[in-house]
Amino acid sequence: MQFKAGKCADCGTAIAARHGERLCSECAVKERAAVAAVKSAVFDRFKITIPEIAAAARLPKSTVQRIVRQFPSLADVVPHEVLCLRCRKRPTVERSDYCEECRFELNLEIQAAAKELLPKVQDQVMRQLGHGTGVPGRVAESLNEKRRRASISRLDPTPKGKYSG
Ligand SMILES: [Zn+2]
Ligand SMILES: [Zn+2]
Repeated sequence: MQFKAGKCADCGTAIAARHGERLCSECAVKERAAVAAVKSAVFDRFKITIPEIAAAARLPKSTVQRIVRQFPSLADVVPHEVLCLRCRKRPTVERSDYCEECRFELNLEIQAAAKELLPKVQDQVMRQLGHGTGVPGRVAESLNEKRRRASISRLDPTPKGKYSG
């Protein structure tokens, strides 16, 4: 994730970037409190899973996860990888609910489904085009106009077509 200088990484409030702060003062206070709550849940109350810590610290799981990753002292004791929703065996890849392998398989399934669906969609589109129903009015109109002109210039033996452009 890239940090934009001059804006709070959390709420987006403009901040003085000259000190290299990542958060505005308000969010920095919240962040410090969140970190303290997570550390307290782990070291004082011996919670070690993300959901347990989140419940004890009253924080969203994603926040707990982020904080755990940030501090080696926490990352060492907390199994901070979230398991894949599909296989429930392997850790998820960043920003996904699935592990790498399941994501790959899901992609294949989606592709297969799309392949099965495509001819049907194409068929439907062709049928709509054929009957001129699915085409938006103006497009259909200009298409008909072009066809009409084309057939006139083709059939009309007089040089009128030359002048009408
Ligand atoms: Zn902020
Ligand atoms: Zn998986």
